[in-house]
Amino acid sequence: MGETVKVRELGKRYGAKKVFEFLDLSFGAGVIGLLGPNGAGKTTLLRCLATVLRPDSGRMEIFGLDPARRAQRTELRRRIGYLPQNPGLYPHFTAQAMVDYVARLKEVTDRRVRREEVQRVLAEVDLTEAAGTRVRKLSGGMRQRLGIAQALVGDPQFLVLDEPTVGLDPGQRMRFRALAARLGQDRTVLLSTHQTEDIAALCDRVIVFDEGRVAFDGTPSELAGAASGRVWSSDTQPGTAQAFWRTADGRYRVVGERPPGSTAVVPTVEDGYLQFLGTGVRA
Ligand code: ADP
Repeated sequence: MGETVKVRELGKRYGAKKVFEFLDLSFGAGVIGLLGPNGAGKTTLLRCLATVLRPDSGRMEIFGLDPARRAQRTELRRRIGYLPQNPGLYPHFTAQAMVDYVARLKEVTDRRVRREEVQRVLAEVDLTEAAGTRVRKLSGGMRQRLGIAQALVGDPQFLVLDEPTVGLDPGQRMRFRALAARLGQDRTVLLSTHQTEDIAALCDRVIVFDEGRVAFDGTPSELAGAASGRVWSSDTQPGTAQAFWRTADGRYRVVGERPPGSTAVVPTVEDGYLQFLGTGVRA
């Protein structure tokens, strides 16, 4: 599978607020993580790609289809699964009825097929037991998993997941990683996250998005490598380093210039990410 999702010179603004402009990106199969500070434009980009928000300028092509054209957009929506940041789940619906409703919207018309599909996606996120529970009685983590389940309906080739791991406990997060990795073998899974651990553990590719621009695009190890020779462990508080914080062992972890007397540390994805943000952190 080559590049199935292409964005060219994409632009989106809200009134006078420009979120991005002349944005170029392409995706093929795999798990791609979108990492960036709040307000960077991640949700806006994901909403454009999920075809729920119309960009102001530029072009998108997904599986050879143009979402700007109505008929093609309808066809495309059957092939896209979307987890919005705040999935609009109906509190009085049971988990099963909620997913069934989404399956109807996706035009899974055969009742038997739909029932099996609902069971399948609920099982994928470990919600089989909770199928008959009303949404309002589900915990936050369960609701999040229900949101993921509805995105999986119809086995879409392009999954757009806005912060899918929010509210998941460590066990559920591991399970989600396994699911995403499996899906990413032959589908495009694009997700946003604030968790650099998710990126390191799960993504084939990471895009650092900052102020509507691609600040970095590469593998997680390349991102970590960007901080190579820039991460130090020091027993005294540094002065002018780009970022530092005190760790549990009482030493300072420093990202930036080498403080005198410090030792080199193997950088993580988070260290690399901080390089691209260029914001000072003091703790
Ligand atoms: P992120 O997901 O990276 O936090 P968003 O895409 O949500 O970023 O937001 C990008 C920018 O657009 C922010 O400055 C945000 O305040 C602004 N924004 C987002 N949605 C709207 C909206 N509906 N109306 C006006 N401004 C918005």
